[in-house]
Amino acid sequence: MFKIALLPGDGIGVEVTNSAVQVIKTAAKLYNVDVEFKECLIGGCSYEANGTPLTDETIKICYESDAVFLGAVGGYKWESLPHNLKPEAALLKLRKSLGLYTNIRPAKIYQPLVDSSSLKKEVLEGVDFVVFRELTGGIYFGEPRGFDDERGFNTMVYTKEEVERIARMAFKIARERNNKVTSVDKANVLEVSQFWRNIVHQVHKEFSDVELNDMYVDNCAMQIVRNPKQFDVILTSNLFGDILSDIAGMITGSLGMLPSASLGNKYALYEPVHGSAPDIAGQNKANPLAAISSVAMMFNFSFNMKQTSDVIEQAINKTLDNGYRTVDLMSEGCKLVSTTEMTEAVIKNFKEIFLKQD
Ligand code: NAD
Repeated sequence: MFKIALLPGDGIGVEVTNSAVQVIKTAAKLYNVDVEFKECLIGGCSYEANGTPLTDETIKICYESDAVFLGAVGGYKWESLPHNLKPEAALLKLRKSLGLYTNIRPAKIYQPLVDSSSLKKEVLEGVDFVVFRELTGGIYFGEPRGFDDERGFNTMVYTKEEVERIARMAFKIARERNNKVTSVDKANVLEVSQFWRNIVHQVHKEFSDVELNDMYVDNCAMQIVRNPKQFDVILTSNLFGDILSDIAGMITGSLGMLPSASLGNKYALYEPVHGSAPDIAGQNKANPLAAISSVAMMFNFSFNMKQTSDVIEQAINKTLDNGYRTVDLMSEGCKLVSTTEMTEAVIKNFKEIFLKQD
């Protein structure tokens, strides 16, 4: 029995979570596992109901779950609220409460979308790597921080434990992939990066079967657009990962295609990278594939069902190959579909691929 906390949130978060749930239910039926959903409010809808974007009750339900699925939060209506009541404040608090110190974002090319990227087809074909971004430390949280009339300052700081735990996770997952980790830093300029590099190399001794390379962050940004095929797992700090994961995500095409996982020692949260898209919310236009691909990550990382995860990814690929496109992906000669039509098509292909495998 897998317990899943469902946090649809606001705007298209609700629509794509609905798609995710249908795929999870299909997977549970095909692979004979029980799932139990507990749905709670987060973001603007929680503010409307409870006066806060994240209640203790929602956090408690997440603590009691094997995995958390989040849609998206935010909307025009809540933009002028004080910072701590804004829907987005709920995300930071939730990640912190669940101790999610690693954010994983894949950069993977779906062959039928190879022409929608700004990069050339020959550079892109076969690209499949993941960015491991440290999520709860580094310059975004370091003290002292602040500014006055004369200067502004932040502190980039990492402890040994913070680097060790994400490095271990990256090496472990590299073993299940192509066995290669590229640790990205700025050790030629920053002492904190030299420290990061030293610790990564110490942890590597436990994983000597995995190939490890170091790369400076400026070079890595260039290499991602020059020759992205060289990467398997990119391991990096909070600030560098924030930037590199966006570059890596966009080489693959639309925002509606990008899934993510945030993992800690005990809890895991899965969410599409996109926001609540208030401009198309409630119109059945949202691309559900980032949410469905996040479900694939959930089956892989939280439920240890890699095969199920792979079949969901194959079903997405087949649906795109059949020419189905939501409005954000639409191109000439393809079939424009709604959120629900795209979801139904993925589920149909999921069942077909599963039966063929059997
Ligand atoms: P957004 O990702 O919501 O939308 C950016 C653009 O991409 C919009 O034109 C939107 O229509 C389109 N888009 C996004 N996802 C799509 C999908 N699945 N299918 C089709 N089109 C899609 O970013 P934004 O407009 O900057 O932010 C809107 C709200 O979402 C804000 O309140 C913002 O703070 C919030 N936000 C939340 C999260 C999150 O919940 N994790 C992330 C980013 C932004």
